[in-house]
Amino acid sequence: MGLFSRKKKSTISIQTTKKDSFSGWMKCSGCQEMIHLNELENTLNCCPKCNYHYRFTVDQRIAQLSDAGTFKELFSHFQSIDPLQFSDTESYSERLVSAEQKSGKTEAIITGTCEIEGLPTALAVMDFSFMGGSMGSVVGERLTCLIELAIKDELPLVCVCASGGARMQESIHSLMQMAKTSAALSKLQEAGLPYISILTNPTTGGVTASFATLGDLIFAEPEALICFAGPRVVEQTIGQTLPEGAQRSEFLLKHGMIDAIIKRRDLKPKIAQCLHLLTGNARNYKENRENLEHLLHRQSQANPSQPKTTKTPSKKWSFTF
Ligand SMILES: [Zn+2]
Repeated sequence: MGLFSRKKKSTISIQTTKKDSFSGWMKCSGCQEMIHLNELENTLNCCPKCNYHYRFTVDQRIAQLSDAGTFKELFSHFQSIDPLQFSDTESYSERLVSAEQKSGKTEAIITGTCEIEGLPTALAVMDFSFMGGSMGSVVGERLTCLIELAIKDELPLVCVCASGGARMQESIHSLMQMAKTSAALSKLQEAGLPYISILTNPTTGGVTASFATLGDLIFAEPEALICFAGPRVVEQTIGQTLPEGAQRSEFLLKHGMIDAIIKRRDLKPKIAQCLHLLTGNARNYKENRENLEHLLHRQSQANPSQPKTTKTPSKKWSFTF
């Protein structure tokens, strides 16, 4: 009897609705185990079995990082136009309209101010669901305005990156955003204000080559793809196979391109800890000074010939994750 001529009713049925809003099971991309969608809602979109990090929406990210009710969106009045009248299989104007309808956002970056564990912060979050998080003129302009605001109001800056690179439909206008955002970040650095960059899956192209990798601290989520050109393009260009895991967070940490890999659930407390340290928050400064004095005391006991000193060395912070 042929496989496809069987009359036996299939025993597999797909459940689509249930009282508890159950909408189905899915196979985890990380561990291949079956996981329940409702479980993901309670674990910040991370697999409860292997901690594989699924994509997070902008709204979820803002809700996770900022203190409840403190985020104020700014610069949303900047809207993309089609300066080159670009058209491929579809015109750029049409693509913008459909991206807006699909994502519910007006651009691939949302910028604003918020509080992170009580510390006022300038926050930018990229939206991969809007044209692959590509960087056009408006992405660059919104971020540059946010950096200028951070300088004016003396705020630290946090940017969560997720991008497919420069927006080809804007050609040179898009590429110029790399220089513009980099120049603005240089002014932020001159003002002595910290910038923490969070690289999420995927962060690629012109965004990697500009503001994403200019952070004073560069963190990444586990197993995120971070690169300029993707692995397939590199392999085709150099005619060689890349090592396993190349261009992933773990590989880049090992080779010194990023400072730490932080699991999503730990992201907010770690960012807050770093911001408090880098902005010299009084409470943490006191704690760190006490830690340093304790260390100095231990060293002076170990080396009694060394003169005791109460002077605190500057910039000797250490981060333990
Ligand atoms: Zn899993």
